[in-house]
Amino acid sequence: MNSAYRCWAEIDLGALRDNLAWLRRRAGPQVRILTVVKADAYGHGLKQIAALLMQSGTDLFGVANLTEARAIRQVGKGWPILMLGACLPEEIETAVRDAVMPTISSMDEARLFASAAKRLHKPVDLHVKVDTGMGRLGATIRDAAALIRQIEQMEGLKLAGVYTHFALAEDDPGFTRLQRTRFGQVIRDLRRTGIHAPLFHSNNSAGVLCEPRSNLGLVRPGLLVYGILPKGRRRLPSEVAPWLRPALSWRCRVSLVKEISRGTPLSYGRTFIAPRKMKVATLTAGYGDGYLRAGSNRAEVLIGGRRCRVLGRITMDQMLADVSAVPHAKPGDEVVLIGRQGDGQISAQDVADWCDTVAWEVLTNISSRVPRVYRGAQAA
Ligand SMILES: *Cc1c(COP(=O)(O)O)cnc(C)c1O
Repeated sequence: MNSAYRCWAEIDLGALRDNLAWLRRRAGPQVRILTVVKADAYGHGLKQIAALLMQSGTDLFGVANLTEARAIRQVGKGWPILMLGACLPEEIETAVRDAVMPTISSMDEARLFASAAKRLHKPVDLHVKVDTGMGRLGATIRDAAALIRQIEQMEGLKLAGVYTHFALAEDDPGFTRLQRTRFGQVIRDLRRTGIHAPLFHSNNSAGVLCEPRSNLGLVRPGLLVYGILPKGRRRLPSEVAPWLRPALSWRCRVSLVKEISRGTPLSYGRTFIAPRKMKVATLTAGYGDGYLRAGSNRAEVLIGGRRCRVLGRITMDQMLADVSAVPHAKPGDEVVLIGRQGDGQISAQDVADWCDTVAWEVLTNISSRVPRVYRGAQAA
C-alpha cells in the first residue's frame, strides 16, 4: 500500500506497452499507429506516457495543443506530432518552429502556414482534414479535393496526410458507412488527378474495433491505448477484451468509520437520510480530486474487496460510503475508486455510467492534486 498518499492514481506502464503491442498486431505491420496523448495522456501523465510509447514503438503522437507537443519534444526530439485541433492564428509560427504538423481545413489556414514557412525558411508538413459528418473541423467533401490540389502547388507546404473523423463508430454502422463512403470518394478524386497523399486515415478507437476496413495507412487510437473499450450500441469484437488491460487505477483511503442511527442525514443538502442503522466510512477523495459530483448517492467504491455505495453528496475533498457489509473497515484502509481489489473491480466505464458521462471525461477529470504513481516497464 502507498501509505504516503491520501488519493492517488497508479499507472501500470506494462499494461500500456502490452496494449500498444496488441494494437500493432491488430492493425497489421503496414498500418502506422498514432497514439493520442492529448489532455495529459487521458489523465495518465503526458511525459511518462510519451516516453513509454516511444520505447514501445508508436509511430506518431496526436495532441490537442502546442504545450502538449512541447512536453513530448522534451522527452524525445524528432518524433512526428500531429496537432488534432486547428491552430489559432498566433500559434502558427510556433507550430512551424516546433515542427508540429497542423491539421488544415481551409485555404485561409493553408495560406497562413505557407507564409510562415517562407518567413521562417522552414517547410511545413501538414495533414488536411475532411469533414465527412463530424461537423467540427475539416473541409467539406465538395471542397476537399480542390483544397488539397491547391495546397500541393503551394511553396513551403508538404501534404503529409489526409484524414477524417468518425462521429459515432461505436454506435451506428450506417452513418459510419456513409462517412467511410464519403471519404473514399475524396480519396478516389485525388488519385484520379494524380495526387497521392502519403497517408490517409480515419479510425479512432471505436473505428479500430468496429471498422477494420477503415484502418487505411494509419490509425489514431486514444482510449484503447489506455486499455479501455469505447462503449456504445454496437457489439465489440469479443476476442478483444482479454488483450487489453486498463493502465490506470485510482485509489484513496478511509479516514474515519462510524455507526449512524436511522434517520441520520449525511453531507451537504441532506440528500441521504439513513433508512436504518448503518456503518459509514469517510473517504479521502472528492470532486477536488476530479471525482465527478454527479456520482453522489449512486457511485460505488471498493473497500475490503466489496462494492460500497457512495452516500450523500460528494464534497470537494471527502465523500462517504456505506461500509455496513465490511466488518473490519478501519481508518487507513485503501479504497478503490477505479481498479481492482480482492475479487472486486470497478472500471472507468462504471464510474462514467454512475456519473452520466463517458470514460474519456472520467479519466481527463482526475485533477492535478492526484499524484500519478508509475509501476512496471520503467524507462531503461
Ligand atoms: C481524440 C481523438 C482521437 C482518439 O479518440 P479515441 O476515441 O480516444 O480513440 C482520434 N482522432 C482525433 C481527431 C481525436 O481528436
